Amino acid sequence: MRPLIAGNWKMNGLSGAAAEVDRLLADFAGSTPDSLDILICPPTTLIAAFASRFENAGLLIGGQDCHPDAFGAHTGDISAEMLIDAGACFVIVGHSERRADHHESDALVRAKAMAALRAGLTPIVCVGESEAQRDAGQAEAVVAQQLKGSLPDTREGDEIVVAYEPVWAIGTGRTPTLADIDAMHASIRRHVGHGVRILYGGSVKPSNAREILARDNVNGALVGGASLTAADFADIIRAA
Ligand code: PEP
Repeated sequence: MRPLIAGNWKMNGLSGAAAEVDRLLADFAGSTPDSLDILICPPTTLIAAFASRFENAGLLIGGQDCHPDAFGAHTGDISAEMLIDAGACFVIVGHSERRADHHESDALVRAKAMAALRAGLTPIVCVGESEAQRDAGQAEAVVAQQLKGSLPDTREGDEIVVAYEPVWAIGTGRTPTLADIDAMHASIRRHVGHGVRILYGGSVKPSNAREILARDNVNGALVGGASLTAADFADIIRAA
């Protein structure tokens, strides 16, 4: 399966951040490898500029969230239709930071993923257990429940991506053992079709990318902190 390496910039990046993407492209002598998909999800303010500036360089641009509705009285929100209009082709939904900060339920995440498909975006649906849930031996059951509640209904031709991101591994420098990644990705694979890419996310960095990306059923990575620095993100792309 074609790997997808996705960078989630979160709430980081002003207009000058395009220079970091230029450095990433310079690392690949102007255009990215065509054996994999490379996606950057910058803050919403940068989507349109990044999409027009980098579309010919083989970079895909995505959003970090969308509202279930196409338009309407939802101050401060952004719809999937607006993201695609700005040049995005993917959107992250259900990131654990949104589930925690904005109390997003599985049902809301599912509605957002459905909105993404309606608009023609590929949703990256995030799932993952807390440390307490893993310690209690509930990790696979929790993720299975999240998948059941968060995955959209799909029709022929719809593309979705699942990102397994253990909450306790995000931004902490800690990662599950490779055996735990194997077990969880195999479990997720049993819930989704064979054509669905399953990304691993949580403290992916140049030093661990190669071994994680080599595992069965790991079809790419969702990268937070290390996607903000061109040299690190380039090393992770090379590892894939
Ligand atoms: C993320 O926020 O999706 C993420 C994986 O972050 P980090 O790589 O910094 O752990």
